[in-house]
Amino acid sequence: RAKMDGLGGLRFFQQHHYDELVRQQHLVEKLEQAIEREELSLHYQPQLSVASGRIENLEALLRWKPSDAEAFVSPAEFIPLAERTGLIHRLGDWVMEEACRQQAAWKQAGLTGIRVDINLSGRQMLRANCLARFEACLERHDLAPQDVGIELTENVLIEAASMVLEDLRRLYHRGVRIAIDDFGTGYSSLSYLKHFPVTSLKVDRTFMQDAHLRPEDRSILEAAIFIGHRLGLEVVAEGVECAEQLTLIRQMHCDLAQGYYFHRPMAVADVQRLLETSELP
Ligand code: C2E
Ligand code: MG
Ligand code: MG
Ligand code: MG
Repeated sequence: RAKMDGLGGLRFFQQHHYDELVRQQHLVEKLEQAIEREELSLHYQPQLSVASGRIENLEALLRWKPSDAEAFVSPAEFIPLAERTGLIHRLGDWVMEEACRQQAAWKQAGLTGIRVDINLSGRQMLRANCLARFEACLERHDLAPQDVGIELTENVLIEAASMVLEDLRRLYHRGVRIAIDDFGTGYSSLSYLKHFPVTSLKVDRTFMQDAHLRPEDRSILEAAIFIGHRLGLEVVAEGVECAEQLTLIRQMHCDLAQGYYFHRPMAVADVQRLLETSELP
């Protein structure tokens, strides 16, 4: 906990705060050029059927490596920045386009029956025609509604509800998979679940974390899976990191699992190799 040590402490605090703002501004300027400089890519993390172990879906996760940097900047850092500055629209369009292009290429190469899911964040959903753009993107790449799904958090869903409900319903009826991401961490009541056309729940990884160690966490995880199933939804466990956790969600009849225990998010070449070898008879 920060303790202000007279004026010196305050100055330290201000300096620290200021440095952070400068760093963020610098990141924003670099992020503005990330698309043109081809610094963005998508990594893909598999979701496996708990019952069969088969890879069913791939979540597309945005990666940014500035050309002058050694490492990736975490999306947990740059997505919120992009949201604040409005850059998220260009990034989001890029993600949509790239995920659809890649899925079309995979289908062409015979890797069929695997869905790609993209993440849509708050401001992105608040832009008029966000979902119509998504549909246009599917069409442009000759994809079926089943080929690419979307993930939204509960807060996004509720904030954007009045604008997007009609579009969401259309997508839902056309067969697009719609998942609630990070389920259980939003500030909403459960009642929203009956108002929104969704197909899946992704139970947040914080509930997974200690589920194999603490009965309380286990109960919450179990309850979330139960609610999902009673509402006819497919349930995905996020952040499965060890065999004990897999055993648990198997006992709870969770449908799909995603996490480091199986695979980290992977670059295209790696995921392709994995799919090709796991598709062999
Ligand atoms: P998310 O959509 O909930 O994605 C899951 C995050 O959990 C990913 O982090 C993934 O790498 C991480 N993860 C997966 N399995 C495990 C595990 O077993 N243990 C742990 N500790 N972590 C695991 P990542 O890629 O850093 O992305 C963070 C967040 O950034 C995403 O959370 C999503 O909200 C956002 N994001 C990423 N890509 C996009 C994008 O293209 N568009 C938008 N709007 N948001 C994105
Ligand atoms: Mg997600
Ligand atoms: Mg998630
Ligand atoms: Mg998350």
